[in-house]
Amino acid sequence: MTTILVAFFFLLLGICWGALLNWLAGSVNEEGELQLKAPVCPKCGAKRKVKHLLPLLGFLIARGRCAQCKEPISARIPIVEFVTGALFALLYLKYGLAWELCILLVYSSILIVLCVTDIEHFILPNIVNYPGMIVAAAISLVVMLAHYRLPWALFLAGSGFMTAFNNYLLSAVAGGLAGALLLFLVVLLSRGGMGMGDVVLAGLLGLMVGFPLVFIALFVGIVAGGLVAAVLLITRRKGRKDMLPFGPFLCVGGLVTLLWGKQLLGWYLSA
Ligand SMILES: [Zn+2]
Repeated sequence: MTTILVAFFFLLLGICWGALLNWLAGSVNEEGELQLKAPVCPKCGAKRKVKHLLPLLGFLIARGRCAQCKEPISARIPIVEFVTGALFALLYLKYGLAWELCILLVYSSILIVLCVTDIEHFILPNIVNYPGMIVAAAISLVVMLAHYRLPWALFLAGSGFMTAFNNYLLSAVAGGLAGALLLFLVVLLSRGGMGMGDVVLAGLLGLMVGFPLVFIALFVGIVAGGLVAAVLLITRRKGRKDMLPFGPFLCVGGLVTLLWGKQLLGWYLSA
């Protein structure tokens, strides 16, 4: 019973936090710069009323439209709020009320913002990527110094070369380098579709999930991206020439790996 109540608390917390992430992601312009400003209607420029800014409720009160010009409000607003809430509740249910949950809430917030900016502007801004990397590297350093084991990171039993990656900082740095290098090769081979922002994001994911789980994150991202692209092509909602941002799929790959990466790897190795 308590678990359900706490999960509900995290759902509400995430919905409110999602409103803040919406505002931050919405403040990133086409050049990838952060320009913090009060939320306005993109069409008529009217400032949103406070009651219309309430997480989830605001969208319902405004009936999904601008109070002044009746332009529909982007569905992104309630979707991001709800997804953030659902993700926070899921992370709590998976890892419990432990301090490492704070790390996961930070990581998932970074990935949600990147997801939104890539969908809206085809940009993975360095103003989010680089601080994210610094945060993930600093966390890895502290975790290593404290001899602590993060529950989502892989630890290898026995002895040998691979157990060197049981050192958390080494695992994170190797994961970051492996992720960035692999995506860099993909960018070179695919010629378009993906950009350097995706390479940096793959590096960030590697720092978050470590080595060798970064491969699971990239694999899930590439499979998810491929499936969605195939569906869009078959249903003719997108043509061959249309751009599909790849960052959101990488973010999903990262989140799935933070939640179930170890199980997915075990499943793959035993299959
Ligand atoms: Zn308006």
